[in-house]
Amino acid sequence: MIIHKILIVILFYFFTSCSTISSYKNIETIDSYEKEEMQKQGNFLVASMAEASRKLHDIAWRIMISNTDVCKDSKVNAFGLMIAHPNDLPLSLKSSFLSASPNTIISKNYDYNLPMIVSIANDSPANNANIMEGDFILSINNTSVNSKNYKDLLKKAAKKGSLKIKVKRLEKEFIYDLQSEIICGHPVQPMVSPIPNAYADGSKIYITIATLDFIKDDQEIAFLISHELAHNIIHYKGKGLYETEAKPIPIEEKPSLQNISDLFIFQSSAKEIEADLMGIEYAIKAGIRQDKVANYFRRLSIYMPQLMGNSIFRMHPGNAKRVSNIENKLKILDYKYNN
Ligand SMILES: [Zn+2]
Repeated sequence: MIIHKILIVILFYFFTSCSTISSYKNIETIDSYEKEEMQKQGNFLVASMAEASRKLHDIAWRIMISNTDVCKDSKVNAFGLMIAHPNDLPLSLKSSFLSASPNTIISKNYDYNLPMIVSIANDSPANNANIMEGDFILSINNTSVNSKNYKDLLKKAAKKGSLKIKVKRLEKEFIYDLQSEIICGHPVQPMVSPIPNAYADGSKIYITIATLDFIKDDQEIAFLISHELAHNIIHYKGKGLYETEAKPIPIEEKPSLQNISDLFIFQSSAKEIEADLMGIEYAIKAGIRQDKVANYFRRLSIYMPQLMGNSIFRMHPGNAKRVSNIENKLKILDYKYNN
């Protein structure tokens, strides 16, 4: 509290002292420079979220398609698409929407009403059909799309299992016919946060944007996704969502606890251990090795040494215990899947 007050006093001093200086400077140029910089930072934010979604999507697709035997109640048809619309962004960031595209050259006659395919999962039906990230959707199953109808049209296509999609790429139009594949309906989204962490809300999985800077190997991301998938399937028994529900550039979305009983799930360290151990099995079933996951916990212990040991005040076991459990399970899985 005291620090707070000191901070406010310092900030107040800065504001007041700056305003006297600016009285003999050209405010106009400062404002337009700042405005330009705001736009740049907005573009960078949107581009970073989209980039994170593309990375998470590729890893998540492999896990979700390889574990349909354990997510029987949440299976959905999917094409491997993550789609965004300018309306997904807060008003102040709408002008940064095109930064969600991996392409630097975009048609000058862009229609702001069209949704964009921000991410296509590797080896998915959309990828195998050669649809491109950054394509704009014109129609779905012969119906023209707009900001209001595209999610419903995609959901209907998924239910049917087939999608005829017309897209615009630069000045050209392309039509593709896709057949869906069955995956676990637990979309993975990036989340704005400065702390490496992951969350599950029963249906979706959230990986904080700081996690992507923190990890050193993709198998660590696979571990986090799979751990949260285990919570969604085993502990929440959550419902599956179609991939249209996944938002690739969610700046303001946070995980929601669907009902009060969910709050108590994570008070059990037994359930956390279960999610760790089921998680590495889900990842290995997807063909993603887990032998470097221990490094993730060792790195966490540099930032938060208090997490090394167990504590009755935390729901997660200590990092040392988590690693020893994981390493033991890996030996069993190695025997199970390699013999
Ligand atoms: Zn957990």
